[in-house]
Amino acid sequence: MRIIEPHIHMLARTTDDYQKMAVGGICAVVEPSFWLGHDRKYAESFFDYFDLLIEFESRRAEKYGMKHFTCIGLNPKEANNIDTALKVVEGMKRFLDRSTVVGIGEIGFDQITDAEEEMFRAQLRIARETGLPVVVHLPHNNKVEGTRRTLAALADERMDVNKVYVDHNTEDTIAMTYQAGYWAGMTLYPVTKMTPERAIEVLKQYGVERMMISSSADWGYSDPLLVPMTCYKLSQCNFVESDIRKLVYDNPCSFYSQCERFVI
Ligand SMILES: [Zn+2]
Repeated sequence: MRIIEPHIHMLARTTDDYQKMAVGGICAVVEPSFWLGHDRKYAESFFDYFDLLIEFESRRAEKYGMKHFTCIGLNPKEANNIDTALKVVEGMKRFLDRSTVVGIGEIGFDQITDAEEEMFRAQLRIARETGLPVVVHLPHNNKVEGTRRTLAALADERMDVNKVYVDHNTEDTIAMTYQAGYWAGMTLYPVTKMTPERAIEVLKQYGVERMMISSSADWGYSDPLLVPMTCYKLSQCNFVESDIRKLVYDNPCSFYSQCERFVI
């Protein structure tokens, strides 16, 4: 089955992983901008990082017949250093029409602070002005409260529900995201946070309409093959092939195709 990975941090992966992912059916990946494990002190460090994703990762993916796309954003963890954050949010605008950039993200809340909300909203406004799709990151701590505040900010900024993909949902938040009308994502991890088995239980209850699954596969404990693995497990649970395809190909394709540069 052809798979689009809608949220993965390839910078943290080796070239061997690209090969394994290609063998697993992944034909395109979208890499949102992320926290590198160490706060950046200078806005320019973000700009070099954006260039690295746009240029280097696209070339690495191409060797395996895979398309690599990027979402540009200031992650919430680094929104609290407000001086640098303001420079990043202003400076990121010049990257938004690069040939492989297909959205803004991942943005949202981490510790659920006022500074994070200010930077989140500033980037939502850029997304609205440019018409780009947005990848939203739900916080891992105080998730329910963070989700409420995320959805309130999205509504207050009058975001188009079709252009927002709210990721890192769990059993506790999926109903809120889904009922608000946004694309709802579950990011899968081998053991912690959301496992494939837990995601499958959610999918049994909610179906695959406006749903996406991803592996994040960042530098933490993760696995870049969790989406193909979940496809296999879904088929073992008697999900029909057309539903699995909708979840891992049609839905991410529909969402990101709202940016004309997303061509696979
Ligand atoms: Zn991520």
